[in-house]
Amino acid sequence: MDTELGEDDSANWKIVSDLLDSLFEKTEISLDEHKLHKTSNSDGFTYLDSNPTVKPSRFSVSTKPQKNFITPINNFESESYKPNLTEKPHALKSLQESLQLVPATSECPEHYLNPYSYEIMNQPYPDWILQPLPKYDSAPWSSSADDQPQIITTLEQLKTLIEDLRKSKVIGVDLEHHDFRTYHGLTCLIQITSESKVDYIVDPLAPEVRENLKLINEVFADPQIVKVLHGAFMDVMWLQRDFGVYIVSLFDTFHASKELMLGKHSLAFLLEKYVKFRTCKKYQLADWRVRPLGLELVNYAKADTHFLIEVFTKLQNELLQKGPESLTRVLYDSRKVSNRRFEYSTFKPLNQTNEVVSTMASVPLENPGEPNTSVSLSFNYNRDQPWTHLIVSSNLPLAKRPILELLFRWRDTQARASDESVRYVMSDYLLVSMVTYIDINSEVSNQLLLTIINDNSKFSNSSGFIRSKLTELRKYINEGLSELKKMDVKKWNLALGIQEETEKTTVTDNVYESVEDVEQLELDFASLTDE
Ligand code: AMP
Ligand code: MN
Ligand code: ZN
Repeated sequence: MDTELGEDDSANWKIVSDLLDSLFEKTEISLDEHKLHKTSNSDGFTYLDSNPTVKPSRFSVSTKPQKNFITPINNFESESYKPNLTEKPHALKSLQESLQLVPATSECPEHYLNPYSYEIMNQPYPDWILQPLPKYDSAPWSSSADDQPQIITTLEQLKTLIEDLRKSKVIGVDLEHHDFRTYHGLTCLIQITSESKVDYIVDPLAPEVRENLKLINEVFADPQIVKVLHGAFMDVMWLQRDFGVYIVSLFDTFHASKELMLGKHSLAFLLEKYVKFRTCKKYQLADWRVRPLGLELVNYAKADTHFLIEVFTKLQNELLQKGPESLTRVLYDSRKVSNRRFEYSTFKPLNQTNEVVSTMASVPLENPGEPNTSVSLSFNYNRDQPWTHLIVSSNLPLAKRPILELLFRWRDTQARASDESVRYVMSDYLLVSMVTYIDINSEVSNQLLLTIINDNSKFSNSSGFIRSKLTELRKYINEGLSELKKMDVKKWNLALGIQEETEKTTVTDNVYESVEDVEQLELDFASLTDE
């Protein structure tokens, strides 16, 4: 190609067309190579996704599974989370002793400990874990419909599963979770692979299974059966919260990959490195409530545990080669993961620690055990209030804070009562828009609310809930606004930036009288005075 650009149109076209031809050719070669990988594994890899061009199919869930639960969901917690245990298999400390309330301190409300804490931190791991483990091969991977995991949906099957698992010295475990159409969250699948290479999928949305899952503590709390999970810090919380299940003798492959200083710490990376399996992430955010589970979802879920035991044995060998103290550190880090306790966010310690884990921020209930019905407002500034992050991220003027609080409380109560996420009830974006449009001095109409919702619907696709509650919301807002107007006029004027001539009060004296952290407050205020 010796023709210069710009010399002659037809010559230029030749350059472009040659280039395109060459690109198409390269694309075709790559596609062929890709197809080859899938079918013949010419690169030695097995692929989870046999057809990457296929998009996940869109199933929908017609009824919320919570409706069929034997013990109904109650989101109006009246006290700290109470572990849902009636028996305690493999106990060193009795159940009764483990369910003692820990008195409140200035840092932490009254709470229950993790009831397996003593066992989790003290039970020795089985002796065999300290010796190099023999080679272990996972069962060959198959995505075929004839080779599917056993699905556990009844109490009978659950009992059989427990008997099967008791024969294993080590099992692989993973969970899938849903958090959109529920307030606190919902564990949707528990995948387990036994040492004898059977893959199981426990369906905890099946009411009988959910109600009786704590029977599996027979296995999960047995120190002689090692549970291999990858990055178990959330799984540990979900198991406690939804079923009263605890893990004694956890091996967390995430902490092993950290100790070995592998370049990456994802499960996908470990699978590529140790078992030459290439996973795909396209179903990670699937709606795991769908039933029956499609083949693609089943395979995706199965891949998360199918190879875990093999990965564990390889990691264990590498850790021992590095030195026995490396393995000991991983076991200790794993104990600490298991020892975390679930707590409702409204009862969590003031300073978030690693030992406590909670779901998304909730508005504390004024009368625990009951919905927040009253319109309760304060001008008190508190960095830790659940709406503070919205004030900061949307740079809301001071005068709008009470309206934000009003809507935030409404959203939280609705979400608790209907067992929906606050995101489902009203997105943060819509909530802030409402705050922006609503003026304390004018009554809100259904029409105004509808206009705001419609303006925002291009950014969020779930406005069904709020549309169905329009009149209720309007009444609540107007009631709130009139309460607001009745409040201490001096404070309200101050909030609006109207200074009374006669009184030389400063903002810190009045509005923020409950604040200790004045420095933070002044910083905060500086960003609001441009209003
Ligand atoms: P995994 O351990 O990767 O199978 O993830 C377990 C659950 O965590 C999933 O079912 C999701 O609910 C949630 N999850 C995992 N990855 C993400 C992510 N990137 N964003 C949001 N949620 C996630
Ligand atoms: Mn997981
Ligand atoms: Zn998973």
